[in-house]
Amino acid sequence: MLRVGHGYDIHRLVPGRPLVLGGVRFDTPYGLEGHSDADCLTHAVCDALLGAAGLADIGHFFPNTDPVLKGIDSQVLLGRVISELRARGWEPVNIDATLLAEQPKVGPKAAAMKVALAATTGLSPDAIGIKATTNEGVGEIGRGEAIAAHAVVLIARK
Ligand code: MG
Repeated sequence: MLRVGHGYDIHRLVPGRPLVLGGVRFDTPYGLEGHSDADCLTHAVCDALLGAAGLADIGHFFPNTDPVLKGIDSQVLLGRVISELRARGWEPVNIDATLLAEQPKVGPKAAAMKVALAATTGLSPDAIGIKATTNEGVGEIGRGEAIAAHAVVLIARK
Protein backbone atom coordinates (compact mmCIF):
# COMPACT_ATOMS: atom_id res chain seq x y z
CA MET A 1 0.00 0.00 0.00
CA LEU A 2 1.20 3.47 -0.90
CA ARG A 3 0.33 6.85 0.62
CA VAL A 4 1.25 10.40 -0.43
CA GLY A 5 1.74 13.33 1.92
CA HIS A 6 2.30 17.07 1.58
CA GLY A 7 4.02 19.51 3.93
CA TYR A 8 4.58 23.27 3.96
CA ASP A 9 6.54 25.54 6.29
CA ILE A 10 7.76 29.12 6.42
CA HIS A 11 10.11 30.88 8.84
CA ARG A 12 11.11 34.51 9.15
CA LEU A 13 14.71 35.52 8.29
CA VAL A 14 16.45 37.49 11.04
CA PRO A 15 20.02 38.69 11.62
CA GLY A 16 22.33 36.75 13.90
CA ARG A 17 20.72 33.32 13.58
CA PRO A 18 22.35 30.30 11.95
CA LEU A 19 20.77 29.37 8.61
CA VAL A 20 20.12 25.64 8.30
CA LEU A 21 18.20 24.19 5.35
CA GLY A 22 17.80 20.47 4.74
CA GLY A 23 20.27 19.78 7.54
CA VAL A 24 23.00 21.89 5.87
CA ARG A 25 24.46 25.02 7.47
CA PHE A 26 24.86 28.14 5.29
CA ASP A 27 27.49 30.76 6.00
CA THR A 28 25.24 33.84 6.15
CA PRO A 29 24.86 36.74 8.62
CA TYR A 30 21.13 35.93 8.90
CA GLY A 31 19.13 32.82 9.62
CA LEU A 32 15.63 31.55 10.28
CA GLU A 33 13.82 32.43 13.48
CA GLY A 34 12.23 29.58 15.40
CA HIS A 35 12.19 27.45 18.54
CA SER A 36 14.30 24.70 16.93
CA ASP A 37 17.05 25.37 14.38
CA ALA A 38 14.07 26.54 12.22
CA ASP A 39 15.04 24.36 9.24
CA CYS A 40 11.83 24.96 7.24
CA LEU A 41 12.74 22.42 4.55
CA THR A 42 13.15 19.61 7.09
CA HIS A 43 9.95 20.72 8.86
CA ALA A 44 8.02 20.52 5.58
CA VAL A 45 9.40 17.01 5.04
CA CYS A 46 8.36 16.03 8.61
CA ASP A 47 4.81 17.27 8.03
CA ALA A 48 4.59 15.52 4.66
CA LEU A 49 5.63 12.21 6.25
CA LEU A 50 3.27 12.66 9.21
CA GLY A 51 0.43 13.60 6.88
CA ALA A 52 1.01 10.58 4.64
CA ALA A 53 0.73 8.32 7.69
CA GLY A 54 -2.45 10.08 8.83
CA LEU A 55 -0.72 11.39 11.97
CA ALA A 56 -0.96 14.80 13.65
CA ASP A 57 1.34 17.60 12.51
CA ILE A 58 4.86 18.50 13.61
CA GLY A 59 3.57 21.02 16.17
CA HIS A 60 1.72 18.22 17.95
CA PHE A 61 4.77 15.96 18.20
CA PHE A 62 7.27 18.77 18.87
CA PRO A 63 5.52 21.75 20.52
CA ASN A 64 7.40 25.04 20.32
CA THR A 65 6.66 25.50 24.03
CA ASP A 66 8.83 22.49 24.99
CA PRO A 67 12.10 23.86 26.48
CA VAL A 68 13.87 20.56 25.70
CA LEU A 69 13.40 21.28 21.96
CA LYS A 70 14.92 24.78 22.09
CA GLY A 71 17.59 25.08 19.39
CA ILE A 72 17.28 21.39 18.52
CA ASP A 73 18.73 20.08 15.25
CA SER A 74 15.70 19.40 13.03
CA GLN A 75 17.40 16.23 11.75
CA VAL A 76 16.72 14.84 15.24
CA LEU A 77 13.03 15.70 14.79
CA LEU A 78 12.98 14.11 11.33
CA GLY A 79 14.61 10.98 12.76
CA ARG A 80 11.84 10.77 15.36
CA VAL A 81 9.19 11.19 12.66
CA ILE A 82 10.75 8.29 10.74
CA SER A 83 10.62 6.22 13.96
CA GLU A 84 6.92 7.08 14.41
CA LEU A 85 6.23 5.88 10.86
CA ARG A 86 8.29 2.70 11.21
CA ALA A 87 6.45 1.88 14.45
CA ARG A 88 3.26 1.87 12.35
CA GLY A 89 4.75 -0.21 9.52
CA TRP A 90 5.51 2.65 7.10
CA GLU A 91 8.74 3.32 5.21
CA PRO A 92 9.49 6.41 3.11
CA VAL A 93 9.87 5.76 -0.63
CA ASN A 94 10.89 9.20 -1.90
CA ILE A 95 10.86 12.87 -0.98
CA ASP A 96 10.49 15.83 -3.32
CA ALA A 97 10.93 19.30 -1.87
CA THR A 98 10.95 22.86 -3.19
CA LEU A 99 12.54 25.79 -1.37
CA LEU A 100 11.29 29.33 -1.92
CA ALA A 101 14.13 31.67 -1.08
CA GLU A 102 15.29 34.97 -2.53
CA GLN A 103 18.67 34.47 -0.89
CA PRO A 104 21.08 32.77 -0.46
CA LYS A 105 21.53 30.62 -3.55
CA VAL A 106 20.63 27.14 -2.31
CA GLY A 107 21.23 25.19 -5.53
CA PRO A 108 24.96 24.68 -4.87
CA LYS A 109 24.12 22.99 -1.54
CA ALA A 110 21.27 20.80 -2.86
CA ALA A 111 23.52 17.73 -3.14
CA ALA A 112 24.67 18.14 0.46
CA MET A 113 21.03 18.48 1.59
CA LYS A 114 20.17 15.24 -0.18
CA VAL A 115 23.01 13.47 1.64
CA ALA A 116 21.93 14.90 5.01
CA LEU A 117 18.26 13.98 4.53
CA ALA A 118 19.26 10.54 3.20
CA ALA A 119 21.32 9.88 6.33
CA THR A 120 18.36 10.76 8.57
CA THR A 121 15.61 8.97 6.63
CA GLY A 122 17.46 5.86 5.43
CA LEU A 123 16.64 6.77 1.83
CA SER A 124 19.15 6.84 -1.00
CA PRO A 125 20.12 10.42 -1.98
CA ASP A 126 18.72 9.73 -5.46
CA ALA A 127 15.27 9.20 -3.87
CA ILE A 128 15.35 12.79 -2.62
CA GLY A 129 14.62 15.80 -4.81
CA ILE A 130 15.68 19.28 -3.72
CA LYS A 131 14.63 22.16 -5.93
CA ALA A 132 14.85 25.88 -5.29
CA THR A 133 13.24 28.95 -6.73
CA THR A 134 13.15 32.62 -5.89
CA ASN A 135 9.80 34.32 -5.45
CA GLU A 136 10.62 36.82 -8.23
CA GLY A 137 10.73 39.65 -5.70
CA VAL A 138 7.07 39.20 -4.80
CA GLY A 139 5.76 39.32 -1.24
CA GLU A 140 7.59 38.61 2.01
CA ILE A 141 9.70 35.84 0.49
CA GLY A 142 10.58 38.07 -2.44
CA ARG A 143 11.68 40.83 -0.06
CA GLY A 144 14.00 38.37 1.69
CA GLU A 145 11.99 38.44 4.91
CA ALA A 146 11.27 34.71 4.99
CA ILE A 147 12.12 31.33 3.48
CA ALA A 148 9.44 28.71 2.80
CA ALA A 149 9.44 25.10 1.69
CA HIS A 150 6.99 22.62 0.21
CA ALA A 151 7.51 18.85 0.38
CA VAL A 152 5.74 15.85 -1.08
CA VAL A 153 6.54 12.31 0.05
CA LEU A 154 5.51 8.79 -0.80
CA ILE A 155 5.44 6.14 1.91
CA ALA A 156 4.84 2.39 1.61
CA ARG A 157 3.53 -0.25 3.99
CA LYS A 158 6.32 -2.73 4.59
MG1 MG B 1 8.83 25.13 11.16
